[in-house]
Amino acid sequence: MKKKKAGKKPEKVKIKKIKVKKPPQPEWKTKPIGGMIFEAGNSLKYLTGTWKTARPITNYDKCIHCLKCVVYCPENCIKAKNDKKDHTEYQYCKGCGICAQVCPVKCIKMEDEDKFQE
Ligand code: SF4
Ligand code: SF4
Repeated sequence: MKKKKAGKKPEKVKIKKIKVKKPPQPEWKTKPIGGMIFEAGNSLKYLTGTWKTARPITNYDKCIHCLKCVVYCPENCIKAKNDKKDHTEYQYCKGCGICAQVCPVKCIKMEDEDKFQE
């Protein structure tokens, strides 16, 4: 039987503990209430439509302007004008497909977003 060569023992590294000062925590009286929006209208800055994978395309020839899609859109990005569906603001549309689901005449088709990339 061969004898195993004794290898070099790894050097012991001393790890210095660093004390991290915790940032001051808000107390219950100074904590903001959950879900509160302090800057009204700030959602306009965030173009949430950039991460959608599908885009709703409306066939306006078939649309009966019932505005169901306007009511059900969770992003409020389908706009109406003079009681008629006018357009969809794609920069905020998340491609959820709810509008296509609720449309009674099925004139909204969800298309692959890749088709519209430049
Ligand atoms: S796909 Fe969703 S977010 Fe986009 S317009 Fe339709 S309901 Fe609104
Ligand atoms: S739900 Fe359909 S028919 Fe009604 S307004 Fe929207 S697209 Fe037009």
